[in-house]
Amino acid sequence: MKVDVIVIGSGQAGVPLAARLAESGRDVIIVEAGHLGGSCVNVGCTPTKTMVASARAAHVARGAARLGVETGAVAVDLAAVVDRKNAIVEQWRARVRRRLEGAGERLKLIEGRARFVGEREIEVNGERHMAETVIVNVGARPRTLPIRGLEQVDWLSSSTIMELRKRPDHLVIIGGGYVACEFGEMFRRFGSQVTIMQRGEHLLAREDTEISEAIEEAFRTEGIEVVLNAEVVEAEERDGDVAVHCAGGQQTQGSHVLVAVGRVPNTDDLGCEAAGIELDDRGFIKVDDSYRTSAVGVYAVGDCYGGPQFTHNSWDDHRILYDILMGRREGGREGRIVPSVVFTDPQVARAGLSEREAKAQGIDYEVAQMPFGHIARAIEIDETAGVMRVLVDPKTERILGAALVGYEAGELLHSLLMLMQAGTSARALVDVQMVHPALAEGLQTLVMKLERFALR
Ligand SMILES: Cc1cc2nc3c(=O)[nH]c(=O)nc-3n(C[C@H](O)[C@H](O)[C@H](O)COP(=O)(O)OP(=O)(O)OC[C@H]3O[C@@H](n4cnc5c(N)ncnc54)[C@H](O)[C@@H]3O)c2cc1C
Repeated sequence: MKVDVIVIGSGQAGVPLAARLAESGRDVIIVEAGHLGGSCVNVGCTPTKTMVASARAAHVARGAARLGVETGAVAVDLAAVVDRKNAIVEQWRARVRRRLEGAGERLKLIEGRARFVGEREIEVNGERHMAETVIVNVGARPRTLPIRGLEQVDWLSSSTIMELRKRPDHLVIIGGGYVACEFGEMFRRFGSQVTIMQRGEHLLAREDTEISEAIEEAFRTEGIEVVLNAEVVEAEERDGDVAVHCAGGQQTQGSHVLVAVGRVPNTDDLGCEAAGIELDDRGFIKVDDSYRTSAVGVYAVGDCYGGPQFTHNSWDDHRILYDILMGRREGGREGRIVPSVVFTDPQVARAGLSEREAKAQGIDYEVAQMPFGHIARAIEIDETAGVMRVLVDPKTERILGAALVGYEAGELLHSLLMLMQAGTSARALVDVQMVHPALAEGLQTLVMKLERFALR
């Protein structure tokens, strides 16, 4: 079959691109090998944040006595948590199907695995299809590590751990990024003993030390064991448990092991060579700022090109690529701000540069820092853990970067994001009248810590 556009993968960019291109009059095929909606809906944001909400409910109930509220013993029914999660995931899958069906006759969904067999030509379910334009949105999957003995033990990935219906007695997590942190806190709150084995010096290694230390302190307060500088090299079954051994000699033993060490692109079985699509040495598709691959007429969006792996980033790729394909946009994605949030409690939210990155790039900055617990509302609602930092350009007074650790920091970040996007001076935060008592008041107090914004 020959069409105008083929989209491979129904991820966060693929679905809106396929639907909108069909609605604009193109004949479009979208191919999906697994469940509709990709990682976000099925194994990423939706299921994790649904389960994080259950974990938080347990945490709040356990701490209610601090606010003078008696609850009695708190127990978590993990099977019920997983059933609720599955029901919400199903709702989203159905919404994605409705979105595709609603795009009209020009859009055809093929459920099967696509493979390139030539330039802009794919094979799926034994049939071949060609298009003027092919958009690759194949996403990524959990990475494994060459740990001796790992294949002999029953280890969990970020996907399979969300199917457990009985809580682990002791969950050992290999990794220290956001997925490791979110699951670590979640299962601690479900009642498991949790040990996080992180190879680097700190959790969330991309962040400034002050930020990582804030989350490590919060984790220790909750009784999560955080082992740093622990490079796991071997795993073995021992008396029905799993023992893991580190290069430095440390070892620990738990009932379950979660491996959360990043994600690899789904490009290994895609036939990229046949299509002339170049990959980098980690298997990510090489693209320019306009998502063009080395093959003419073939674009790549979302996690598979090695940019920041977030749903909002993939969705934003769709927005930009759509405008490029419609001839309404000159530039690509250069200069865009990519925010991120770790949905732990306190959350870790960041946009723009960290202090370490500013230093490495030789960028001039002023930095302000303030404990989250200095915010009146944080004290009132008993959510004082965390720290906030902002970097400001001394010449333009624009915000270069912000990192917030605190309750609903992901929501708070958006006030700063708007200013960053608008290219406005951070002085706007001083001049605006903010509501008392709101958490956002803390952002005003934070920037006033800088000499230039201090009230005299
Ligand atoms: C545990 C976890 C938690 C996360 N939490 C968050 C979060 O809170 N916020 C956030 O922004 N991001 C989060 N993410 C990341 C987010 O899920 C991804 O960045 C996002 O889903 C990427 O979307 P995508 O469009 O690149 O592709 P995906 O959503 O991965 O979709 C790719 C699709 O392509 C299909 N496919 C692959 N190969 C083929 C083929 N050959 N033929 C046909 N179809 C194919 C796959 O089946 C898949 O459905 C999380 C990820 C994980 C694992």
